[in-house]
Amino acid sequence: MKRIQGWGNSSIDYPVPDPARAYLEKVVGLPHKLPIISVADLIKKVPPSRLPVHPLITTDPEDRLRHARGQSLNDWVDMYDGLVDSFPDGVAYPETDDQVRDLIQYALNAGVNLIPYGGGSSVVGHLTPPHDGPPTLSVDLGKMSRLVDLNEDNFEATFQAGVNGPQLEAQLEKHGFILGHFPQSWEYSSLGGWIVTRSVGQQSYHYGRIEPLFASGHLETPSGPMDLPHIPKSAAGPDLRHLVLGSEARMGIVTQATMRIRRLPEEEHFYAAFFPDFETGATAVRKIAQSELALSMVRLSDAMETETTFQLSGEETLVNIAKKGLNLFGQGAERCMLIYGLTGSKAENRLADRQLSHIVRSHQGMMVKFYLGEAWMKKRFLTPYLRNTLWELGYALDTLETALPWDKLQDGRKAILHAISYALEAENEPVLVFSHISHVYTNGGSMYVTYLYRRAEDPQETLARWIKMKTAASQRITQMGGTISHQHGVGLDHKPFLHFEKGMAGMDIIRNTISTVDPNGIMNTGKLIDHD
Ligand SMILES: Cc1cc2nc3c(=O)[nH]c(=O)nc-3n(C[C@H](O)[C@H](O)[C@H](O)COP(=O)(O)OP(=O)(O)OC[C@H]3O[C@@H](n4cnc5c(N)ncnc54)[C@H](O)[C@@H]3O)c2cc1C
Repeated sequence: MKRIQGWGNSSIDYPVPDPARAYLEKVVGLPHKLPIISVADLIKKVPPSRLPVHPLITTDPEDRLRHARGQSLNDWVDMYDGLVDSFPDGVAYPETDDQVRDLIQYALNAGVNLIPYGGGSSVVGHLTPPHDGPPTLSVDLGKMSRLVDLNEDNFEATFQAGVNGPQLEAQLEKHGFILGHFPQSWEYSSLGGWIVTRSVGQQSYHYGRIEPLFASGHLETPSGPMDLPHIPKSAAGPDLRHLVLGSEARMGIVTQATMRIRRLPEEEHFYAAFFPDFETGATAVRKIAQSELALSMVRLSDAMETETTFQLSGEETLVNIAKKGLNLFGQGAERCMLIYGLTGSKAENRLADRQLSHIVRSHQGMMVKFYLGEAWMKKRFLTPYLRNTLWELGYALDTLETALPWDKLQDGRKAILHAISYALEAENEPVLVFSHISHVYTNGGSMYVTYLYRRAEDPQETLARWIKMKTAASQRITQMGGTISHQHGVGLDHKPFLHFEKGMAGMDIIRNTISTVDPNGIMNTGKLIDHD
């Protein structure tokens, strides 16, 4: 069963090992023991529904609570501390395009705000119903998970857009194919959600981000059905797919998507390497990207993330042995870990590995071909469960991300980490903050930042601390010319910063496009962009 409070399946836990607790207490302080509101008490907060009756809609309070929030830090405070104060008035679980169309017509007739719900994994406030205004209907696409068509000639598969990661890959694997889109939320996040938030999978370096994978699709919009052209490539004017990508449900509901797929790879491996410091590691990673090595993933952690990964692994003895070994080879306290993936044929992988090893060694790096890479791979969808245990211990954890050109990435990283580290100086609250480069391009890379701090006794204060850090980091990102989001999207949390990237003309184009498709403003009102 999916958790109502926190991330993931309620049968899965990721305990914080004792040495890791001691480490966190040393770095950020002793956590407060805080109560957690019960789900029963949360359900009591759900008000009566304002929706007219419809056969596809349930107004069950637990269903409405389950669809009230996503996974933003804000959402967590709401759900764990009981601050949640806006709920969808009902939830519908359509199974066909016709039913989606019917729900849109119902919303138009009754003046209802619609919020499509994929996996509920949004981390930027995409799913929060407005506090006032018309009633809200959550349209959960979880029952739309079928493989509609597999075209082996074209290497394309059409899915209903509510399909989640495991369901999608299981259906393709039976036929020897793979999409290869693996965001860390893969267990729950959905194809439709990936498309409208421009998601990026961990192995995007090989498989591509969602943009190139999305070949075509079908939407139900308030102005009627919309089929995207289905052509391998077109020079006939602007590409309509790019209006849908990143539209965050403002233009309608994606009901089907045709995706470019590949044959399953012959083999796949994940390995590690170490560099003596972040600057050297980042230079090597840039060289790797610009040499266009055939890797599937590159992820360079900074020294603090490397150390924290060691501490949270629960493998104290192994870590101590590893550190001694690394020290002997010149990888001391500032060591940074690179995890890389090889996905393809044996021959391609062997060649890429040899080329990478050459770059690593010429940047004072050291290859580690056992345990670490495979351990990272095995735990990659489990790691987010740590956020639950940390929260219950008394620590709040959030992440943010950007992309910057190579010539700004190192300074940008320092500035962002500095902004977060000192945002709670007035409260004398230390923050554990670390980062990694995880998606690389020939002209730049993405920077993913994790920050951990103590929850306050007053949940409003926990929120206030988060707002300070998030705002300080977002300001620094936009000052540096970085994007406010490389992969999570805009939602509510990043909305105030969108105009820095798009400019005023760009904002008008987005606004006018939404208004053309949705003149009555019934689709996910208030997210992505304001209308005044
Ligand atoms: C633990 C964790 C790890 C994550 N890791 C990554 C990562 O590695 N890479 C990454 O890119 N993101 C990541 N994210 C963010 C999140 O998973 C992505 O934004 C994802 O694409 C959201 O998909 P979803 O199906 O869960 O959408 P939801 O959260 O359900 O919805 C997000 C938005 O999409 C809209 N929407 C959903 N389905 C449709 C549809 N069919 N038609 C129209 N609108 C729709 C919703 O209305 C909402 O506005 C992570 C989140 C978590 C919690």
